[in-house]
Amino acid sequence: MATVGFIGLGVMGLPMTRNIINGGHTVRGFDLNEAARTQHESNGGVAVTSAAQAAQGADFLITMLPNGAIVRDALLGADGASKSMSKDALHIDMSTIHPLECDEIRTALSERGYQSMDAPVGRTSVQAIDGTLLVMAGGTPEQIERARSVLMCMGDTVVECGGPGMGARMKIINNLMSTVVNALTAEALTLADSLGLSRDLAINVMSGTAAGRGHMTTTYPGKVLSNDLSPVFMVDLARKDLGIALAVGEQTGVSQTLAAAAALVYEEAQANGRGAQDWTALYAMLRKKHLDADSI
Ligand code: NAD
Repeated sequence: MATVGFIGLGVMGLPMTRNIINGGHTVRGFDLNEAARTQHESNGGVAVTSAAQAAQGADFLITMLPNGAIVRDALLGADGASKSMSKDALHIDMSTIHPLECDEIRTALSERGYQSMDAPVGRTSVQAIDGTLLVMAGGTPEQIERARSVLMCMGDTVVECGGPGMGARMKIINNLMSTVVNALTAEALTLADSLGLSRDLAINVMSGTAAGRGHMTTTYPGKVLSNDLSPVFMVDLARKDLGIALAVGEQTGVSQTLAAAAALVYEEAQANGRGAQDWTALYAMLRKKHLDADSI
């Protein structure tokens, strides 16, 4: 069984440490908040009063903190974990931070002789409590293998994202989708409410179409991901329908920020001569524009 130093006993960190403790490991937990440390102790953990103390004797040192500057300080600051961390230990950052900050922190630790990997998590504190987080692991295969048994105390899935820093990158892409879709969901349901539609009915209908199920596993595989842009549903028609939704919103007084932004993307596709292509051609268009890629 391992000794795990854990810095950041917040909404996520406390249930994550409880699950590591339940896995039979010793957890030396540090948080600035005294109440969190007390709770950690009553969960069966060892509470300590600095990041450096958390790292003492630890096989793994996990950070689960609000942002990159705080992670950096907890590791490399005056009373940071690197003051006492063993050179044999493995640092695992599970916070959500900017990928370039992740790279800088890993490099700074490496220059001092420490190993570090990134393993941010998908899902929320509900799954942190249940121990069913999805871990996006960025590290060498050896690091991920070494960390796996501890990571699996907190999650039910460890996805190897393709090397150091790639977990942090995958996490940001994941959250781009989930945060924007959340805002779009709010926009669509508000428009439905303004039209007097039953909310349950609206959710039920959209759960059976690409609207609620998302495009990656429905419309994309057979079309743009197969380099087939022959239309199942044309860009021109999609733009027409979006225009109707925007007009309806104007009538009911519901402004639609995301729908208006999406209309610009469809119009760009039309301006690029893609009006008669399949609506999934937006992805092909953006890859051409930003990556100069001719195919998927
Ligand atoms: P939180 O604010 O509840 O927890 C952060 C904890 O860090 C707090 O208890 C705070 O006191 C502590 N802290 C701050 N500075 C510190 C320092 N210098 N030293 C020691 N402790 C310090 O936030 P959270 O929801 O637990 O999120 C933590 C990280 O996990 C964030 O990067 C967040 O984006 C990410 N995340 C959150 C969720 C979620 O659903 N809440 C899901 C996935 C990822």
